[in-house]
Amino acid sequence: MSEIRRRDPRREWIVRNRLHAEHARALAEQGGGAASEWLGPSGLIRKYPHAIGFIGPNGIKRIDRSGAQQCGQAVGGARQAAQDRRRNVTIEAPAFLVAVVPDMPGGRLSNHDRDLLGLARRLADADPERPGAVLAVVFGELKEQGFGEAGIDRLLHLGDDTYVGFAPEARLAVLTAVERELAPRHWLLPDSPLGGADLGRRLALRLDERPATGVWQIEADAESPMGWRCTGRGGAESLDIQRPLPRVALALAECAEPVDETRHAAEALSLAEAILSALSRIEDLGHVAVDPAGVALAEAEFILSAGNGVKDWEGFHHAARVLGATEGASRVAVDDGFMARHRQVGATGTWVTARVYLAVGISGAIQHLQGIQGCDKVVAINLDPGCDMIKRADLAVIGDSAEILAALVAKVEQQRGGQRDAA
Ligand SMILES: Cc1cc2nc3c(=O)[nH]c(=O)nc-3n(C[C@H](O)[C@H](O)[C@H](O)COP(=O)(O)OP(=O)(O)OC[C@H]3O[C@@H](n4cnc5c(N)ncnc54)[C@H](O)[C@@H]3O)c2cc1C
Repeated sequence: MSEIRRRDPRREWIVRNRLHAEHARALAEQGGGAASEWLGPSGLIRKYPHAIGFIGPNGIKRIDRSGAQQCGQAVGGARQAAQDRRRNVTIEAPAFLVAVVPDMPGGRLSNHDRDLLGLARRLADADPERPGAVLAVVFGELKEQGFGEAGIDRLLHLGDDTYVGFAPEARLAVLTAVERELAPRHWLLPDSPLGGADLGRRLALRLDERPATGVWQIEADAESPMGWRCTGRGGAESLDIQRPLPRVALALAECAEPVDETRHAAEALSLAEAILSALSRIEDLGHVAVDPAGVALAEAEFILSAGNGVKDWEGFHHAARVLGATEGASRVAVDDGFMARHRQVGATGTWVTARVYLAVGISGAIQHLQGIQGCDKVVAINLDPGCDMIKRADLAVIGDSAEILAALVAKVEQQRGGQRDAA
């Protein structure tokens, strides 16, 4: 057999063309890690910059979380290919433990949680000869399936009602038991208003440690007692404070890259000793209902956003009320006078970070997509299956916006009616 490398120009063209129906498959067929690199027609190595985890021009590893530039099929295919390429890692006898207490809003790991787990992996994997294991302590009902992919070696789950909602005393009792029994080398919590910031400070007090807060970076430092130094925001966000990494650290979102190359065992763990029941002086009375219309766009968790494809404005506002969503808009909807200026989402409007962004009749212009990069899940309703918003969306519904919103409202009202009858 000749050793001459044969090229397939058509396949190369499909690999370059992100909108081609076979793009994802062709990309995956490049083989293993080469999915983000291939030999171009000129003989030069080409890079696919949107593949998960690529090295940016400044040498730093970047991740395109927005998916903004990718076609839906390619995103799914590339993500699937990336999942398949993950290396399985099992740490049988860890030299030490790095304990992480993720927020898990809604029973799922948030992006902030994943960044924190990435940070934990850096600490655990620093010495390949003596690797540590990442232990996650999670509370309440779980809907998350990807603990292993997020970098967790050991999972301690406490699903009891005692730990649901705002229960810092009960949770602290668990963390204290973990400390007594497993003595983790590091404790990492998200410095977030969802619970991590409060619990982390309580834990530090209980362990008699001075925590590092607002941490956004850690670096190896042989002169520090734990071998690491950290940088955190301080002085009301006005300055950076550097100090040796203490045992308890509360980190900000984007403190590290989330895990994307390995799949860990996420082995279930239980404590041998009984958890001492905590004296509970706090009663969680549940969430206070707020008017979604009064929530600032930048803080809204669920946004129903209208574009030029919305014609039935009464139906749109009614849908927002029934779904309990905060209203957003494209620039065209604002310029045409249908929505207030402060509702505009996008590069020249508000950058939003909703957990769910429902885009109704919005084409997905780059200026709009820039504003929704930080959203967890994007749902699109549009007549045009080829538009960029549909390519960006995690879930797409092709059809007339008025009809689909009306059907959605009817379904929700029917479900609520059923629940009321049952009660
Ligand atoms: C400097 C600059 C800054 C900008 N900043 C922003 C910004 O911050 N935010 C922003 O949004 N835009 C911004 N724009 C404008 C942007 O380029 C787009 O023009 C705008 O986002 C398009 O809005 P749209 O998607 O609502 O409208 P269109 O592009 O007209 O899209 C309408 C969509 O609705 C669909 N549709 C039509 N009828 C129906 C129906 N009955 N049911 C369902 N779907 C239907 C169509 O298929 C189409 O996809 C900016 C532009 C410039 C030049």
